[in-house]
Amino acid sequence: MSVWKMIYSKVSTNDFVMSCGISLASRCHLCCAAIESFQHFFFYCKFFKCLWKWLMNKFNLSINPNSIVGWLDFCCHNKAHQASLVLCVEVINMLVKIWKTRNMVKHNKHLITPAIVIDWIMHQVKMSGNSTSKAANISMLDFYFIKVCKVNILPPKAPSIKEVI
Ligand SMILES: [Zn+2]
Repeated sequence: MSVWKMIYSKVSTNDFVMSCGISLASRCHLCCAAIESFQHFFFYCKFFKCLWKWLMNKFNLSINPNSIVGWLDFCCHNKAHQASLVLCVEVINMLVKIWKTRNMVKHNKHLITPAIVIDWIMHQVKMSGNSTSKAANISMLDFYFIKVCKVNILPPKAPSIKEVI
């Protein structure tokens, strides 16, 4: 499953399959409380809502974009390279793990806990954030986003002075 499919809501959730003319008795495999739709699954299902809440608390956010594009816009807006990368990796890994968890429950009846999902996401973000060559911006907010992910801050290069004759 690629993220671009998620951005364009082309994920094979039950509502998408039914929109193709296939009849299903739809039910969310995780909470069993609603029809499995794209919006329910990624943003309103009580199983995953705690993950989004964890992300918002972690970054001390008061916003709650209920769309993938909204999250990615937030990650890239007004942030320099390393902080933006760390936030994007966090959100993308969240989406990928949500989808993988859904498939594990649907096909293998194997449920993993939100704590395991969070550990996996933290590991991926730390690995990606520490292996990037993108430097951080000199901004307390950017520093905060990077440090809260337990990623080492990569300072920008010092300005050089060129002699002008
Ligand atoms: Zn649900």
